[in-house]
Amino acid sequence: MNRRSFAQSAGSAVILSTIPASSLFAQDSNALKAGEVMAIAAHPGDGMFTMGAVLAKQIERGGAGVLLSLSLGEKGAPKNISVQQYGAMQRTATENAAHLIGAEAVFLDYPDAEIPFNDESSLRVSDALRKHRPEAVVTHWSGSWHKDHQNCHLIVRDAIFYAGLETLTRERPAHAVSKVFYAENWEDAANFLPNTYIDIDSVYEKWMQACDFYPMWQGQTGFFRYNDYYSSLSVMRGCLTGSRHAVALMSDINQRTQRLHSL
Ligand SMILES: [Zn+2]
Repeated sequence: MNRRSFAQSAGSAVILSTIPASSLFAQDSNALKAGEVMAIAAHPGDGMFTMGAVLAKQIERGGAGVLLSLSLGEKGAPKNISVQQYGAMQRTATENAAHLIGAEAVFLDYPDAEIPFNDESSLRVSDALRKHRPEAVVTHWSGSWHKDHQNCHLIVRDAIFYAGLETLTRERPAHAVSKVFYAENWEDAANFLPNTYIDIDSVYEKWMQACDFYPMWQGQTGFFRYNDYYSSLSVMRGCLTGSRHAVALMSDINQRTQRLHSL
């Protein structure tokens, strides 16, 4: 496979789909109808910056998207804003951003930097999965330096197990999540190996506007320029898929079984 054919095959190897909505629905609206995707992030900014474009694309295709934040990311407050006030700003930004892309924003109330990985947190997230019943979940990759991100990865792993366990009695019936993907996040870069690309050209501007609701997006609260990083990352990923902008995801290794008729 030469480089050009890699870029072309990468563009067609998308699981959530790179197929334009118009051609997709023209083929078979039932068989290929977009389902619900739930993005689960430790902090609201992680959710919108690294998973928001996927939600926006899924919603544009006729599906639905939910953004679940385990905390408000309130301890990222700059010196002149209280932690409590910053948490409220993060919640408002997330609600506005989710509304703009057509997604639902849901929050758990764990304190930022202290998100616990245990059965209580895993069961709460599994209850959210049983309530919203997404077909696919996007969350943090495990290779993160941030303890909240690491714990979120583990919480989601166990939550998906608990959500699908028929014999585990909870308020709502069991729900099996079909696909799990990990988002490309500058803080979760260790051993991140993307293998799923999504063309986001049609939702790029809307996603950028949604990200701009966040007080940190343009580097206002710290050293990191989220806007430059994630906008240019989407251009770089787009180079590999033949589109202007794309996002890259890593599929869970347990779902990487391909059924081929021939090579
Ligand atoms: Zn984070």
